[in-house]
Amino acid sequence: MDYCTALREVLKHSIVWIEAQSCSGETVMILRSGCQGLEDLFFHSSPVKFVSLFCEEKSGKEILENILQMTDFVLVIEGAIPSDDSLCTFGGYSCTQVIKLLAERAHSVVAVGSCAVNGGILREAGSKGVKEVIGDRKKVFEVPGCPASPQMMVATIYYALGGKGGA
Ligand code: SF4
Repeated sequence: MDYCTALREVLKHSIVWIEAQSCSGETVMILRSGCQGLEDLFFHSSPVKFVSLFCEEKSGKEILENILQMTDFVLVIEGAIPSDDSLCTFGGYSCTQVIKLLAERAHSVVAVGSCAVNGGILREAGSKGVKEVIGDRKKVFEVPGCPASPQMMVATIYYALGGKGGA
């Protein structure tokens, strides 16, 4: 299976993709991979829910409530999580709270990029990686790199789907 086919298959599944304290490098790597029709698929016609926590929107609470009704999804997190809750909020919750709530409902969790793995370049400023935030509640699949390789991200999400990626 080539990369674009694998990516399209993965994006047919229920994925909540969260951007925390991120430069969007991983999202850009996926979107710039040259696969035809990908932008539309990623943002509009796939079940993927893409949420940027770093810039709170007016409708943040509504989006969050909808996502929190979901079950059986893969939670993908891009970007670090700041220790100072006021630096990252969404829908009236801190990023830390949102990620913990979503991780409880997700069937698996994938951290993409070094910021999500261990705080990356923001670690010196007190930011953390996903594992440090959610603890041992759930296994976290990690894809380090700055930015993470799109092939490795797709392969890991496919694996996290439990083999359903090619169904
Ligand atoms: S790991 Fe690198 S590319 Fe990814 S969010 Fe952090 S700084 Fe950006």
